[in-house]
Amino acid sequence: MEFLSNSSYQVISLSKATELISSQSPPDADYVVLTFDDGCERFYDITFPILESFGFPSAIYPVANYLGKRATWGNVRNRELRILSRSQITELAGLQVEIGAHTMDHVKLTTVSEDDAIVQVLESKKILEQLIGREIRSFAYPHGAYTRETIGIVKEAGFSNALTCVARAAGAAESMFEIPRKYITYYDDLNAFKQKLL
Ligand SMILES: [Zn+2]
Repeated sequence: MEFLSNSSYQVISLSKATELISSQSPPDADYVVLTFDDGCERFYDITFPILESFGFPSAIYPVANYLGKRATWGNVRNRELRILSRSQITELAGLQVEIGAHTMDHVKLTTVSEDDAIVQVLESKKILEQLIGREIRSFAYPHGAYTRETIGIVKEAGFSNALTCVARAAGAAESMFEIPRKYITYYDDLNAFKQKLL
């Protein structure tokens, strides 16, 4: 974050970025958007204070059925990880953190029935909207898994954009429901991070 802060990159909010993407004009600067899937409690304890100290906006995608609980879905390796509580999410929502949806149970939407996929997408939107009293506009596909049908479900649910894990820069004229992202891992040192910004 210190590197970003001293660089020519501009860290902007997700909603500002989606505005730029949908305007279809070529970006006039190098922009970065910081997004964090799953909504781990560590975001509140560790990440957010760092982002806040640099004045960086961000977006988080909490798994809606696990608020305040341990992340025990699927084959999550660290089953001690806790997901943000309802009050932590409400607090963050008032502090330059956009809240997006990431299904109820972190399911791979391409492997469940259409009915289940609809419930997973719609319910997660509803629960988070009731919690923060604001519209949830952004969705992140768990495991980055989506098909044309999945896009249809997400659109139908009333989202205005969706993030994938397709690793490239989001230029202008992207589909708003297939916004690419670059995955930064625990193992990326500063050099690897810089490479991914290119
Ligand atoms: Zn996830």
